[in-house]
Amino acid sequence: MAGLFYSTNLRSPDVNLKAALLAGQAPDKGLYMPREIPRVPPGEILGFKDKTYPEIAYAVLRRYTTGLIPDDELMRLCVECYDYPVPLEKVSDTNYLLRLDQGPTASFKDFAARMMARMMRCFLKQEGGELVILTATSGDTGSAVAHAFHNVDRISMVVLFPQKEVSDRQRKQMTTLGGNVSVIGVDGKFDDCQALVKRAFTDPDLKSLRFSSANSINIGRLLPQSVYYFYAYAKLQRRGERVVFSIPSGNFGDMCGGFLAWRMGLPAERYVIATNENDEFPRFVADKVYRRIEPSRVCISNAMNVGHPSNLPRLVSLYRGVMDETGNVSRPPDFLSMRRDMYPISINDGETRQAIKDAWHKYKVMLEPHGAVGWAALERYLADGNKPQLAVSIETAHPAKFPEEIQRLLGVDPELPTALAGLDAKPEQYEQGPNDYEWFRGYLRKAFR
Ligand SMILES: *Cc1c(COP(=O)(O)O)cnc(C)c1O
Repeated sequence: MAGLFYSTNLRSPDVNLKAALLAGQAPDKGLYMPREIPRVPPGEILGFKDKTYPEIAYAVLRRYTTGLIPDDELMRLCVECYDYPVPLEKVSDTNYLLRLDQGPTASFKDFAARMMARMMRCFLKQEGGELVILTATSGDTGSAVAHAFHNVDRISMVVLFPQKEVSDRQRKQMTTLGGNVSVIGVDGKFDDCQALVKRAFTDPDLKSLRFSSANSINIGRLLPQSVYYFYAYAKLQRRGERVVFSIPSGNFGDMCGGFLAWRMGLPAERYVIATNENDEFPRFVADKVYRRIEPSRVCISNAMNVGHPSNLPRLVSLYRGVMDETGNVSRPPDFLSMRRDMYPISINDGETRQAIKDAWHKYKVMLEPHGAVGWAALERYLADGNKPQLAVSIETAHPAKFPEEIQRLLGVDPELPTALAGLDAKPEQYEQGPNDYEWFRGYLRKAFR
């Protein structure tokens, strides 16, 4: 039925968007996916050419929110979320770069995290409830999520990070927000932070608090990632042409958003699935055998150092297969169709660095390591004899987030975007805590009674 979401593990009942969003994960540990993918008619997609980003976001997301969020409220949310530019940079005749790096944390994760936060607020308002978001972060995700929930009423947020393991800039992106965002530097590692959060979720002594994790497998982090594919296509379209997207991928959320857009009716030709040296997915599609990579390989595109992508079960289910959260495949997907639709390829660090240099010297285009994986993959695709009418490579972060690498490769300092500028002058506010659950429980009790 339209408007319902099923679990990729197929052992939980279907739920509507509100329930899926507030729960995050299905009770059977599966991921929620739309039972029926709504279609956007071709004529309407052509009409996106004259629309703004918030208007396109509204037109796409409305298909999932009808009956749950009033249309005028959804439109307001879209305007509130997408108040920054989405540049589409021409690189060569048919090839473009879609820069998703102009949001408050200069990462593409802003697109989805902001909308998820506001949808949650909307549902909480309807129910009259309040929510505490607990998140452990090793760096970037925490700041995108913290910014997304900052000043969103009915929601408080607690971020835990490993005190000694995040960069100054990463820490400041979280600790200079204040308001409803509390930050704790834990004397431990990322895994310790995660363990503290997990224990709080199931602690009977904290039952009076309603927790959520807002993590990357939430369907709310997926649907808004369909929108920029429509946007890019609409702004580029020459009638009748199909587009190839190249997507630098780690946990495959970006890519799943892209596939939903395609199934909704976006005239795509093929998706280049670009991974770094964590090549479990290209191997899976080539060999039909899935092997996670443990521990994941360390590459300069560090947000993509993922040896077992958490959204993979979603992709498999789009091709009628079943994969559980551990990576076990109980029904194989349609590999033939996957190979027709995708061009999966792994790019190593050497190729990534070369792509950053080449793009700069040939086209005066500045890439950072994640976008460079996507760009290098697209170039491989073209060199492999493919001649797309249009190609769009996605840049997922701002080069200024990787100043050392850019300086070393190009000899220039990337200009700081306004989102990151001024951070040094802002006062920081955070607690330092021991790696001790009793302490953390006491903290939560005091903060939220
Ligand atoms: C998270 C992230 C990615 C990977 O996106 P997925 O949706 O996990 O595939 C790529 N680039 C940057 C900069 C990121 O932060």
